[in-house]
Amino acid sequence: MTAAARVPPAADEPLVSFVGVSKRYSGDAMAVARLDLDIARGEFVTFLGPSGSGKTTSLMMLAGFETPTEGDIRVAGKSVRRVPPHRRNIGVVFQHYALFPHMTVGENVAFPLQVRGVGREEAARRVDRALELVRLAGYGRRRPAELSGGQQQRVALARALVFDPDIVLMDEPLGALDKQLREQLQLEIKHIHDGLGVTIVYVTHDQSEALTLSDRIAVFKDGRVEQVGPPSEIYERPTRAFVARFIGESNRLDGRVTATDGRHCTVRTTGGFDVRAAATAAIAVGQTTTLSIRPERIALGGEGSDNRVTATVEELIYHGDHVRARLALAGTTGFVVKVANAAGAPALAPGASVSLGWSADDCRSLDPLPAD
Ligand code: ADP
Ligand code: MG
Repeated sequence: MTAAARVPPAADEPLVSFVGVSKRYSGDAMAVARLDLDIARGEFVTFLGPSGSGKTTSLMMLAGFETPTEGDIRVAGKSVRRVPPHRRNIGVVFQHYALFPHMTVGENVAFPLQVRGVGREEAARRVDRALELVRLAGYGRRRPAELSGGQQQRVALARALVFDPDIVLMDEPLGALDKQLREQLQLEIKHIHDGLGVTIVYVTHDQSEALTLSDRIAVFKDGRVEQVGPPSEIYERPTRAFVARFIGESNRLDGRVTATDGRHCTVRTTGGFDVRAAATAAIAVGQTTTLSIRPERIALGGEGSDNRVTATVEELIYHGDHVRARLALAGTTGFVVKVANAAGAPALAPGASVSLGWSADDCRSLDPLPAD
C-alpha cells in the first residue's frame, strides 16, 4: 500500500472539492444545501452533526452513490460528475459491515481486486498485507459469521484499503460497537491513517470521536456546514452557538450587546448583569446574543477576573478527579462549573453562595439561540 500509484497533485490543489453542492431528494427539503468544502490530500476530515443533518448524503455524493442536485464535486481538480462509483478509486466502510457472508474473509478482502482485474498472486499478496494492517493476519479462511463485530469491521476496513484507494470514506463505522472496542478501533484507524497517509472522510454524530480522530471537523446542521476547523479550534473558538453546544459542554447566557470595542464587547444578560465577552459573531450594539462559556474555564472565587457573579450551589456531582457543581445565578439555573479535585480546592455544599469568575476571552458572544 504505497502512494506511488496515486496521481501527483498540483502543489496546493485540494484532493476533494465540494463546490456549491446541494441535494434535494424528490420533492423534499434540502438534505444538503450549498456545501463548499476543500479536503487536502492525506487529510482526516470528519463530518460531525446530529442525525438528519446531511452527513451521509454528502459522503454518498462523493462516493458516487448519490448525484448532486446542484453544484459539482472535484477530485484532483476534475469533476467526477460522470465518473461511476467503481471508477472513483474510493474505498467505503459503513456502520453495518456489509461483508459477503458466503465468502471467506480473504475472499471478501480480495473482492475489490478481482473487480479491478488484479492477478491472483498479486491479489493474494495485497490481501495478506491488508489483513496484517488491520491486525487480522491468519484470519483469511474464516467466514464473517465466525468473527466478532469489531473483527468484522476490521475486515471491512481491509477491504476498503486493499486496492490502494485515494480516499477512504467511513460512515459511522464504529456505531454498532461498544465503547471500549470503539475507542480501541478509533486508535487503530488513526494509526492506519498516519501510516498510509490516505485521505479519510469520516462521518460520526459522536463529538468525542470527531475530536480524537480528525485533522479537521466540519460541523453539520440542517444540511449546512456551521463551522470547519481543527478540533481545538472547533472546541475552543466556536463561531456558532450551535457548535458551542453540540461539541463538549458549554454554559449559556442570553443577552444584548450594549458596547463594543472591536475585540471585546459588553453584554447585558437577561438576568440583568453585565458580561465582558470576546466579540465573535454578535458584535454590533443592540444585537441579541447567546454567550458561551466552557465549564472548565470558570473559576470559583475568581478574584481579579474580567467577569464576576454570585451564584448559589444547586447540586454537586462527584467524578473522582473533579466535582461538577450545578449553580443558579441571576436569570439562569443549571450553570455548570468543573472544580478540580486538587489540593486546596474549596469545600462546597448545596445552598452555599459562591463567587464565580471568568475571563472575557473565554466567553464568546455568538448568534442568539432560540429559547430552550
Ligand atoms: P445524516 O447522515 O446526517 O443523518 P442524511 O444525509 O442521511 O443525514 O439525511 C439528510 C436528510 O435527507 C434527512 O432529512 C433525511 O431524512 C433525508 N434523506 C436521506 N436519504 C434520503 C433518501 N434516500 N430519500 C429521501 N430523503 C432522504
Ligand atoms: Mg448518516
